[in-house]
Amino acid sequence: MPSTPLDEFIESAKALKIRSATAHIGSRYCDYDITSKTFEPRVPYFVGYPDRRYLFISEEVPEEFHPAVLAHELWCARQKGRGDPDHCRHAAVHELLYVPNRAFKAYLDMRLKTFEALVELYGSCGDTDFVRAATASRDQFRMLVSDPGA
Ligand SMILES: [Zn+2]
Repeated sequence: MPSTPLDEFIESAKALKIRSATAHIGSRYCDYDITSKTFEPRVPYFVGYPDRRYLFISEEVPEEFHPAVLAHELWCARQKGRGDPDHCRHAAVHELLYVPNRAFKAYLDMRLKTFEALVELYGSCGDTDFVRAATASRDQFRMLVSDPGA
């Protein structure tokens, strides 16, 4: 079978794998790879789950935040598969269940940086569904970061 651009994207991420890991998310265990941040230096704290085929996260993301960031990807993909047009923003709410309380503010700041970078990078030329989804999550994190109760 000829390789597709998605195959190549996944292979290039795998080539920069640092190590495999397992996260405990709710009642399940989830295997993923930790990837060198050089894979996409323009997107801080990146995470990827292209076509639900390969789950990977930047080495920059602190270990204690892995479950929440990965929970987003799993939920986002699942809701998208179910036809939820607001899948990314819904996932941005769901993931907060897995954030350690004492690090809540740091987590929100980190996620806002990622989504701001995604919108900046793909806003003018990327896939419109992806841009719309990323913009909705960026706005969600902006709102949470500015909440004095957070
Ligand atoms: Zn999402």
